[in-house]
Amino acid sequence: MTRMRKHLVRAGLCCAVLVLPVLVLTQSAPADGVSARAKQLHDRAIVIDTHADTTQRLFFDKTFDISVRQKNGNIDIPRMREGGLDGLFFSIWVPSDVTGPPAVKRAMDLIDATREAVRLHPDQLVLATTAAEVRRAAAEHKIAALMGMEGGHMIDDDMRLLRLYAALGVRYMTLTHFKNNNWADSSTDKPAHNGLTPFGKDVVREMNRLGMMVDISHVADKTFFDVLAITRAPVIASHSSSRVIANHPRNMTDDMLRAVAKNGGVVMINYHAAFLSEEFRVASEKKSGTVVASMSALSKKCGGNEACTTMEGERIDHEAMANGTLPKVMWEKIIEHIDHAVKVAGADHVGLGSDFDGATMPLGMEDASKLPKITDALLKKGYSDQDVEKILGGNILRVMEQVERAAGSGAKAGTQP
Ligand SMILES: [Zn+2]
Repeated sequence: MTRMRKHLVRAGLCCAVLVLPVLVLTQSAPADGVSARAKQLHDRAIVIDTHADTTQRLFFDKTFDISVRQKNGNIDIPRMREGGLDGLFFSIWVPSDVTGPPAVKRAMDLIDATREAVRLHPDQLVLATTAAEVRRAAAEHKIAALMGMEGGHMIDDDMRLLRLYAALGVRYMTLTHFKNNNWADSSTDKPAHNGLTPFGKDVVREMNRLGMMVDISHVADKTFFDVLAITRAPVIASHSSSRVIANHPRNMTDDMLRAVAKNGGVVMINYHAAFLSEEFRVASEKKSGTVVASMSALSKKCGGNEACTTMEGERIDHEAMANGTLPKVMWEKIIEHIDHAVKVAGADHVGLGSDFDGATMPLGMEDASKLPKITDALLKKGYSDQDVEKILGGNILRVMEQVERAAGSGAKAGTQP
């Protein structure tokens, strides 16, 4: 073969490799009965999920390769691509009972694991810290990897750490996880501070100044209202559903939904079966205790390997759904929660915060590839294209922009539109 010929063959091969997946994607029949219109809208929209625990797999499971389609779990690049997911907040989550310097070390491990995943897959992932960077990533057909920190105990009561996390790219912080910390009450612990302490209020102010979104998922109701009284930027609930439908303290009451709407923030609906279905929540608490108790028991069983904790939790729940020990929860429950939140707070204040790889997904939403079903279902309910686009990602991008604008000295307090 001549040199020229070899070049041509190589060029042909390279193009075939590049073109083939595109052809396969565009020619395949819409999965799960998703209409062509929904598929088109979903592809056009910037789809963002504000909470996934895939970070635990990146850190604990050294064999996990996010660029390869996995048999378990809910997230990897091929399934994100299939589901049209354009941006994902990797949760920097450290269990509440890991505190002090070990919590800081673990937070660093998880931030590094996320940044390393991006470094190792530069053709697929890009680290994003602003709304503009998310939009740029989508335009370049890359997935925006963002970071959100789940649990204020990781700052170890030290504002300098908060600032350093922000500098490393963390763009929201959930003030508490399952337990209270030294400055904020959690929704799943006994009240100790009557909401936020004076230091806790300073944390919120500093987050506003840094341009970090204040996340009120997991916090006690009193903490929530304390935050809303002092924040000068819109807040988010990164992964919370409706308490009227599933009566879990982790979920949002209608008053809270209305308060977030008034604040200009956004509530991202969580897909965890026990937060979606009251029937499942009650049965599951009867079977294995509260979500807090059952997760800490699993964590012990897994020897503190939190990738194992979250994977096992879902496996056990799905097995119980299959053998009838627990009621089946279907993916349409997600739509019910979105629709309720939209009715109470408005379509400008609702979004998606799956809790993928950290919870028990409802049947039919086994992984990120199923996301177009949400778009299809909302269109079938009569939602406008614009409202669907906002829910899929437009709302969280708007809030990110508002939080970015509110950052700085704080001199313009209270003047946000
Ligand atoms: Zn959580």
